[in-house]
Amino acid sequence: MAILLDGKALAKKIRIKVKSKVSKMPSPPGLAVVIVGDDPASRFYVDNKKKDCVKCGIVSHEFALPENVCEDKLMTLIHELNHRHDIHGILVQTPLPHGLNTQKIIQAISSNKDVDAFHMLNAGRVLYGEYGFVPCTPEGVITMLDHYNIDIKGKHAVVVGASNIVGKPMAMMLLHHHATVTVCHIHTVDLASFTRMADILVCAVGKINLITADMVKPGAVVIDVGINPKSDGTICGDVDFEAVSQVASYISPVPGGVGPMTRAILMQNTANAADMLN
Ligand code: NAD
Repeated sequence: MAILLDGKALAKKIRIKVKSKVSKMPSPPGLAVVIVGDDPASRFYVDNKKKDCVKCGIVSHEFALPENVCEDKLMTLIHELNHRHDIHGILVQTPLPHGLNTQKIIQAISSNKDVDAFHMLNAGRVLYGEYGFVPCTPEGVITMLDHYNIDIKGKHAVVVGASNIVGKPMAMMLLHHHATVTVCHIHTVDLASFTRMADILVCAVGKINLITADMVKPGAVVIDVGINPKSDGTICGDVDFEAVSQVASYISPVPGGVGPMTRAILMQNTANAADMLN
């Protein structure tokens, strides 16, 4: 039976460290959270981030805009936030409603306040291994592996999913930690033949039960990044948790695994932003 990678407990430890760092600052860091429209999932994520801010002594400033907001208005808000001295981090909750150019809006955020690390400059820094802000989810995974003393060096890491915000930076960060990395995606032929080779398997796709027990090498470390809503209102990951737990050496649950870690790293990034900007 696999050991559970308890992201919830580790995230709490990170928040305590962030709170302690923040308490020594002359003024609290400010995080601007921009939400457009009334998507329930986005609202849920934003509310959780606001709760985390309270726990860490960070001031959250919510900017809720209507679904039909024009792009110019949103861009003006981002420019204002870029110049506000009480705002150290800016995040725009995605997905944005159709009609808004997400890339244009994200790239308008000052790279010094880009606590999600979605800006191209920060993404490029990840490629070079010279991190400005660390992308929250991949850094959450690396922190988790480190906390459980799971060696990355020399291991074969297989990342399923190749998005700009999770899969690609995840692969790059595992590479910087000296893993041999394979990246799989929707066009990968015979996915199982790759996942079965993984010492460390990270799945970030958004498809229930994509990873079944027969796709996992005995003793592998399995990290489930996926978040899938279920009909009963709960969420699950991409991995068949019950069955894969019987094969893996370590496994992260959903909920309670990577999700809380992502949010904790966001708090860490916001405190670091305040440090850099003050
Ligand atoms: P995305 O839709 O941008 O990317 C999905 C990736 O999966 C793509 O690269 C695609 O090629 C690949 N893919 C799709 N179907 C596949 C298949 N059958 N086999 C192999 N690869 C396949 O999604 P994203 O933003 O990277 O998020 C991925 C998942 O992670 C989602 O469920 C999302 O909700 C979740 N997520 C979780 C956290 C967290 O904190 N836990 C953070 C971000 C995203």
